[in-house]
Amino acid sequence: MKVLPSFDWYPCDAHSPKWWGGLESPEEVAITAVLVQQTRWENVRKAYENLRVARLNRFVAIKKSSLCSIKSCIKSVGMYASKSKRLKELADAVIKAGGWKTFINRDAREIRTELLRLNGIGYETADSILLFAGNHLIFPASRLIARVLERIGFNVPKGYEAFRRFVELGLPRDLFSYKLFYASSLVTTKVACHSSEPECQKCYLSNICRTFAYKQASNIL
Ligand code: SF4
Repeated sequence: MKVLPSFDWYPCDAHSPKWWGGLESPEEVAITAVLVQQTRWENVRKAYENLRVARLNRFVAIKKSSLCSIKSCIKSVGMYASKSKRLKELADAVIKAGGWKTFINRDAREIRTELLRLNGIGYETADSILLFAGNHLIFPASRLIARVLERIGFNVPKGYEAFRRFVELGLPRDLFSYKLFYASSLVTTKVACHSSEPECQKCYLSNICRTFAYKQASNIL
């Protein structure tokens, strides 16, 4: 757990938004979940700091603001023009539902369906918003996490929903476990279990990993 803050994950109270980059509010978590798609967190940080300064870190303000104002705040992230539109669409959905609290405190399936209907919001983004901004027990089933589990030796099902159910069945059903497993697994992919040439000597999972055992046995470490 000690290494997680170096990668902007902050284990704390299970209901806190701070897990996600140390952010102050669930709305900021949802906004940055959209911004972080295919973008480095450092660039997302610049964008949300600009949004905070411009007081555009709440959906009610995003709804009222112009597309140009949002674009100018989030220029540090990839695809900022289309992400500005996504934030406006998400803000429309939130305000239509009656505001953030009403939007996020509904049945998780209802929110998920609505999020997935929006342009550019896929399963992992929707489920990240549900778990980290809404504290709903839904696991964002990243393919990066599937890669780690496959290498360890799990027979990981193909397809997003099947993999999500597979992880959820294996975890204790509580927010802390879901958030910790998600954050730790993603950090593992950054520290050691890279897509090519995993650095197994650095990995805290090496003692249970089939790939590592194979490499040791084959003398290819
Ligand atoms: S030991 Fe190597 S292959 Fe296994 S999870 Fe760690 S980095 Fe990945």
